[in-house]
Amino acid sequence: MGYDLERFVGYVNEGLLCCVCRDVLERPLQAPCEHAYCDACISSWLIHHHSCPEDRLPLDISTLRPLHRYMRNDLSRLQIRCVNSGQGCDAVCCLETLHTHEDECPFTFISCSYTGGDYICYQCGCPVQVERRGLESHLLECEFRSRACPSGCGHTLLSVDQSQHNCVAVLRTELELLRAEMLGKVEVVRREMESRLDSQRRHMVQKESLLKSEVEDLKGQVSRVVCDVRALLEAERLRRQELAEAELEKRELLEMLRCLQPFRGQAGPTQPGEGSRKARPRSLTLDCIKSREVTVI
Ligand SMILES: [Zn+2]
Ligand SMILES: [Zn+2]
Ligand SMILES: [Zn+2]
Ligand SMILES: [Zn+2]
Ligand SMILES: [Zn+2]
Repeated sequence: MGYDLERFVGYVNEGLLCCVCRDVLERPLQAPCEHAYCDACISSWLIHHHSCPEDRLPLDISTLRPLHRYMRNDLSRLQIRCVNSGQGCDAVCCLETLHTHEDECPFTFISCSYTGGDYICYQCGCPVQVERRGLESHLLECEFRSRACPSGCGHTLLSVDQSQHNCVAVLRTELELLRAEMLGKVEVVRREMESRLDSQRRHMVQKESLLKSEVEDLKGQVSRVVCDVRALLEAERLRRQELAEAELEKRELLEMLRCLQPFRGQAGPTQPGEGSRKARPRSLTLDCIKSREVTVI
């Protein structure tokens, strides 16, 4: 659809009108027959027709071309009133710069949650449509405007919600959440510590039983050694006793020999009964003593 001819200031060449809508060309295209149309107009025409709407010559969409340059220049220089002239905008600009103006026109209606230009979306959700020039004053009283709670609880509130806002309830809920979170964390740490302690305990128990068995081993070894020592001491005592006895015997025998010495020449044979009874064991004992002295030496 083209621009309404009424909006233009001054004369508009008929060649700049669309052959379909008869308004001033918007995004123009030109057919091989030189007729020109708005892009939207000819596109919808060609859905049901295959000819130029002006002279009925055959026409295919692929043959459409941009407008001649001189016509484009004429078109862009046309003076047009702002689309918001009805609301009070008296801006007139050339067609080329129309969109630039309309994008910033203070009379254009925009929604409160508009985010373009210098305006900030305070709160998406406000359904109010205001002229761009009235947005700032609307935002001051917009129900969807958010601001910090005046009681200082730290929450951001929408103006629309302020009457129902209860700082204490909000803070209590928050506190409950924090407490639950803390309890969860404490529980996790507790479980971790417990499992660590458990593993340490198991380790200690293993070590203890190991040490116990080692101690038992050592005890066995010590008692064996004690037995050995006792046996050795006993053997030593017996040996000393034997030695003392043998010494005594030796002294007795030597004494006896000394007593016998003077009678050796004249003395007749000793009584046979006594001789055979005493001589043998004494000589055996002497032999024994001699051999012991040899080993000692
Ligand atoms: Zn048109
Ligand atoms: Zn034509
Ligand atoms: Zn305007
Ligand atoms: Zn609003
Ligand atoms: Zn509050």
